[in-house]
Amino acid sequence: MEKIILIKYGELTTKKENINLFIQTLKENIKYKLKDEPVEIQYDKGRMFIRGLKDNYDKVIAKLKEVFGIHEIVVCYEIKTLDLEEIKKEVLSLVQEKEFKTFKVETKRSNKAILKNSLEISSEIGAFLLKNKKGIVVDVHNPEVVIHVEMRNNGTYLYFEKELGLGGYPVSTLGKGILMLSGGIDSPVAGYMAIKRGVKLEALYFESPPHTSIEAKNKVLELAKILSKYNNDLKVHVIHFTEIQEAIYKNIPHEYLITIMRRMMYRIAEIIASRSNAKILVNGESIGQVASQTLTSMKAINEVVKIPVIRPVACFDKLEIIDLAKKINTYETSILPYEDCCTIFVPDHPVINPKARLCEEYEKRIPYKDLIYEAIKNHEVIKVSENTKKDFDDLL
Ligand code: ATP
Ligand code: MG
Repeated sequence: MEKIILIKYGELTTKKENINLFIQTLKENIKYKLKDEPVEIQYDKGRMFIRGLKDNYDKVIAKLKEVFGIHEIVVCYEIKTLDLEEIKKEVLSLVQEKEFKTFKVETKRSNKAILKNSLEISSEIGAFLLKNKKGIVVDVHNPEVVIHVEMRNNGTYLYFEKELGLGGYPVSTLGKGILMLSGGIDSPVAGYMAIKRGVKLEALYFESPPHTSIEAKNKVLELAKILSKYNNDLKVHVIHFTEIQEAIYKNIPHEYLITIMRRMMYRIAEIIASRSNAKILVNGESIGQVASQTLTSMKAINEVVKIPVIRPVACFDKLEIIDLAKKINTYETSILPYEDCCTIFVPDHPVINPKARLCEEYEKRIPYKDLIYEAIKNHEVIKVSENTKKDFDDLL
């Protein structure tokens, strides 16, 4: 009997046509996550099996809890038989040292060649335990211990407890997206939600030195590092935005600063996406949160690109976003007080109903195509992973 970890895929199993891609990708992602652990990973259509574990169960489980596409994680005992008599003895040996009064047996039988049905198997095992272990009774409604018995093609799996995984889809199964990652609270949460749906992200950060500091950049890289736990790693594209912002500031009526700045960001993001073969942009916009996120503003800004823009937190209240930021551990970093490029050139009265026609007029005053071309030509790419050193000195 070997103690192994069994993984259930959950929602994946409903994806009939793509199931092999989903499971194969999940396996690759788990392999990457456990690259420092000497384990062996195998799978069939319904389950993944991690064998060769030693004393590293807790560590492996903690890592598996950062992998999307896993529905349940179970530490179980594998016996290479479907013979009911042998199974009964093994179950008994497992429960012998356990202290409990009430129990029930729950059987799953994916191998339909087994003649007895699940209920018959459960009650036979239950009866055997009652006969051989003193002081226990069956309670089907509220048992202290549930003994799970899964009979599959190549063996039987026995376990008592299961832990929930993160759910979602394995990262990469849905293709690539570009996350507009600022140092704020919203965009890391938006990124996490997109990764959850199987989107492999690359991040895009606009910096405006000397108006924005190296601390602001490190903060974004720290957020990228947290997100990289779920994304395998995270490539961060850094765009030097100073010249564009200064040109906007000098030439455009200040109430339109933010609207036009964001149109430039979108244009650049679309080009980065097409070069990276990404199919969507993802950002942390939330309806009504600030002047640039009224519906009219969103339309005037969105108009400059064709690529779909996904806004996972669009309909969340700020408090809901904060809750999630705390859960995924980005909140404490996000609230560090370094200026972002959006906050340094904020006008007193940003327009809340910008007119697209006026945006186009104003944009004629700056050679924005050339500026965008330069910014993209000189852009920097930094690859962050969960093992990246905290001060990012080795990367910058
Ligand atoms: P956040 O808390 O995510 O920064 P916010 O409330 O500050 O959001 P805005 O500053 O209006 O809102 O930005 C809206 C979205 O635009 C951000 O969530 C992010 O996706 C993107 N964005 C803003 N600033 C930057 C930046 N400097 N680099 C990359 N993306 C940015
Ligand atoms: Mg922001």
